[in-house]
Amino acid sequence: MEKIVVVSEVWKRFGKVQALQGVSLEVNKGAIVGLLGPNGAGKTTLLRIILGLMRRDRGLVELQGRDPYRDPRSRHGVGVVFERPVLPESLPVKELLMAAARIHGTSKDQVDEAIAESGLEGHEWKPFNALSAGLKQRAAIAHALVSDPVLLIADEPTSNLDPLERAKILNLLVELNARRGLTVLVSSHVVSEVLRVSQELVIMSRGRVRLRGPPEEVLGGLNIVRVRTSDPESLWKLLSSAGFEARVSGLNVELDVDGAHGKLFKVLSAAASQGLTIYSVDFVEAGLENVIGGEDA
Ligand code: ATP
Repeated sequence: MEKIVVVSEVWKRFGKVQALQGVSLEVNKGAIVGLLGPNGAGKTTLLRIILGLMRRDRGLVELQGRDPYRDPRSRHGVGVVFERPVLPESLPVKELLMAAARIHGTSKDQVDEAIAESGLEGHEWKPFNALSAGLKQRAAIAHALVSDPVLLIADEPTSNLDPLERAKILNLLVELNARRGLTVLVSSHVVSEVLRVSQELVIMSRGRVRLRGPPEEVLGGLNIVRVRTSDPESLWKLLSSAGFEARVSGLNVELDVDGAHGKLFKVLSAAASQGLTIYSVDFVEAGLENVIGGEDA
């Protein structure tokens, strides 16, 4: 399997903060890899180092077989999308994309294709600053597509969006992966959304990779769950009748899932359909402290 990103034992310190502590991961060509972790885990630092935008203190990084910090050729064919896309505000999106196309030597047809693929049709003549947050993110993705990338690195592309838009943006990444074979490395602090789209998960906390592997394996290792809900007593009853041993603490219900994640999610969706609000679902593994949180149901 061709590896498009290789990170091995990478360390990075900012003053007193040890932001990365021996991080290793690999991204296979054609995969969607989800990088999960709470704020401050080191995701952005790691992505910036992978892109060669920041120097590492120690360790090895290869982007398309080259050191990204030393060799800018490593970034050819790498598209980047940030949490809040920064593009010239007053220009119509199509003009922005045409300008990018001139830089990359891309044809007008490819620009139209990028507009269609990213779901921007009907909005391409609007100025960037007139777009909704979701459409801005689509414009940023179209901007990346104009360079005909093999790899897209997306740093929390959904964190500024409402739940419906979040799902749409992630679906778009899945479509691009299927249609173009685009490799995707996407970071998030919401497990439920990245879990759904990734073939491989990397979970970070406090500068270290804590878990890595296919979603079902990673999830299988996360068993202590805390559900925050509008009605903990009713949820406790539902969980107990499904055979879970749960305990109520304030608005939280905690339980050991013991591998029965599918059963838990069935109970939660039944609870939601009965009118309970599920505010969050956190996995609180020892040493991981709320590594990953869920979306509202
Ligand atoms: P977030 O989602 O909040 O961006 P993250 O997982 O991306 O979180 P990083 O932004 O990589 O985490 O930050 C990792 C740690 O390094 C944090 O403690 C952060 O405060 C610190 N840090 C990041 N960049 C710098 C910097 N330029 N100078 C000093 N400290 C920094």
